[in-house]
Amino acid sequence: MNVSERQRPPLVLIADDDPTIRLLACELLEDAGFQVAEAAGGDEALDAFARLQADVVLLDVMMPRMNGYEVCAHIRGMNGGDHAAIIMITGLDDIQSINRAYEAGATDFITKPINWTILGHRVRYMWRASKARIELEHSEKKNRALIDAMPDLMFHIRQDGVIVDCKIPRQFQSPLPEERLVGKNIEETPFFNPSESVLSLIHQIIRRGGSHSFEHEVKINGNVHSYESRIVSSGEKEVLVIVRDVTERRKAQERIIQLAYHDSLTGLLNIHSFKRQLEKAMERARRYRRLLAVLMLDLDRFKRINDTLGHNIGDLLLKGIADRLNACVRKTDCTARLGGGLDGSHVARLGGDEFMILLSEISSPHDAAKVARRILDALAHPFFLAGHEIVASASIGITLYPCDGDNIDTLLMNADAAMYHVKEQGRNDFQFYAQAMNASAFERLSLENRLRKALERKEFTLLYQPQVDILTDNIVGAEALVRWNSPDAGMVSPNDFIPLAEENGLILPLGEWVLSTACRQNRTWQMDGLPPVRVTVNLSSLQFSQQNLLEVVKRALRETQLDPRHLELEITESSLMQDADSTVRTLNMLKASGIRIALDDFGTGYSSLSYLKRFPLDVLKIDRTFVSNITTDADDAAIATAIIAMGRSLNLSVIAEGVETREQLRFLLERGCHEVQGYVYSPPVSADAFAEILRSGIRVRESGS
Ligand code: C2E
Ligand code: MG
Ligand code: MG
Repeated sequence: MNVSERQRPPLVLIADDDPTIRLLACELLEDAGFQVAEAAGGDEALDAFARLQADVVLLDVMMPRMNGYEVCAHIRGMNGGDHAAIIMITGLDDIQSINRAYEAGATDFITKPINWTILGHRVRYMWRASKARIELEHSEKKNRALIDAMPDLMFHIRQDGVIVDCKIPRQFQSPLPEERLVGKNIEETPFFNPSESVLSLIHQIIRRGGSHSFEHEVKINGNVHSYESRIVSSGEKEVLVIVRDVTERRKAQERIIQLAYHDSLTGLLNIHSFKRQLEKAMERARRYRRLLAVLMLDLDRFKRINDTLGHNIGDLLLKGIADRLNACVRKTDCTARLGGGLDGSHVARLGGDEFMILLSEISSPHDAAKVARRILDALAHPFFLAGHEIVASASIGITLYPCDGDNIDTLLMNADAAMYHVKEQGRNDFQFYAQAMNASAFERLSLENRLRKALERKEFTLLYQPQVDILTDNIVGAEALVRWNSPDAGMVSPNDFIPLAEENGLILPLGEWVLSTACRQNRTWQMDGLPPVRVTVNLSSLQFSQQNLLEVVKRALRETQLDPRHLELEITESSLMQDADSTVRTLNMLKASGIRIALDDFGTGYSSLSYLKRFPLDVLKIDRTFVSNITTDADDAAIATAIIAMGRSLNLSVIAEGVETREQLRFLLERGCHEVQGYVYSPPVSADAFAEILRSGIRVRESGS
């Protein structure tokens, strides 16, 4: 209804065949503020209604051709007919005709003789009542639509708990249809667990009014559904229970929690949640005077797996390891093995290949050791990942609370120190934290810091050790050996800083520096007119696995203008143990450019003859641990002899390093090994000293006998 319609006076259609009545009614109703239209018969009344859509129709029952009942029924079927207030004027004051009037759809009736004085009032009240009814119907329709659109299940419940009415929205997965719910007691429906005692809540609401909300879970067809229910008072002895399915919302919340508190790759706890658990566990341990252990675990050489097999395999391995760690601390199997007491264990991943384990209820350090041992054993079984068989190992450091620290940071730092100690001692083991470790960790850190600065501060130098042909005493080469001349530590041996530089990657820029310095030096000797020799440069396995190795080597040669024939690279067996195909490819490329390849420290690794055959090498270098005992230890003598023979059969040159005595020289000469390097001729010396040796020639040193 728009504003102009609302403001016009209501229109009354008077249908009566008696003109006097029509006249009187017209006058009175107009006086009372109505607009009025007339019809002298039934058909005229229908025409007029169709045209005017009157708000009120006064219908005489007795009319020629079409009586009032028929007209009424017709109007109700017409457009706008259900909105009109239809008042029958009946001369027959009997129940039967009144009933008929209502059946035909009349709103009300008045009897003849008409009480003219109150006609205006009656019509007005009837019109208002009818309008109110229409509005009510309208708003009920709206409410119904609103309720239908709501995703909630609704029950009307009597105070005895019986459902009198219910509405199940389409999207709601209900275990029972509406008709089977109505009449049932709410506590018997599958929506509430008996323990929730909804009935007593209903009684409370009925007594006190207001509302009450609660959450609950129900299993429907095997799936757990989460509901949020609200009980609202809706009458004197009735409540409305509104049940909302919040399963999806709950799941989303759980996902968010999962993301916030867990490591996304492995599903283990992340560092934040681990620290929270640790804090709680420490508090409990403090209160009950108990012991707890933190295990810091770092995979050994994980980077190599990532580098050679790719990150996908690396990720799979981390997941597999997470599973095994979980299995190792799982309460059920721990209790069996440890005689109980491993409740409250947590495994976390700190990122990368570092994991942490909290054992919050151990009765002695022995329990922590047992778990650590079990973890190492569990990791020793190979993982089969995308066609690869991978064996992992780890280094584990253990700290105990309260003995090794009374706060989280100290505990974790000490676990870390213990773990590093294991790495230094050769990995694949566990160790408890000992106070002394912190000092060594501190030292290590400061060494690392100083090492980082050493390159830019030009604190490195190269020494050169002659390689000599015993038959002629000719110098055939020079091994470049790096030294760190540290301002605060003096001359540091490569044995002390190369492993550290390999771990933190510093070996890459350092190795490049060594390579180009050695090449440049060799070129300088040649330019100075000295007899040309080969310079031998040690390559760390990390350098060897770099994609750009060939580029780096070629650049050094180009920039120093050294002929590749005068460069030899020494690699170790561990370089060969990496991905075999790519190793062969790298070696072939290096050899194709004219560079010689020597296998350093031969005999200390695991290379077998068949393994060696696959690689295009030029030189085998017998490690000095064998050489030093060849004249005294039969085993070492046998090994050295075998290596020499093996080298021959593979068509490789053999050079012995660490040769210190004439006896050793003789032994080697007899077995057919002619090239040597060692104190018997010269220790590593400076570039100038080496130039001098080149100039004046070399001899076996008298002291070296
Ligand atoms: P390496 O490559 O096996 O080098 C031989 C080592 O034996 C050198 O130790 C050398 O001084 C020593 N040596 C030579 N003759 C004798 C001898 O007659 N008796 C004894 N007892 N020792 C002898 P250094 O210079 O301390 O180097 C140690 C290791 O450090 C090297 O072993 C090598 O693995 C590594 N290294 C040295 N320089 C470099 C470098 O520039 N890059 C890389 N990646 N590693 C290097
Ligand atoms: Mg070497
Ligand atoms: Mg060596």
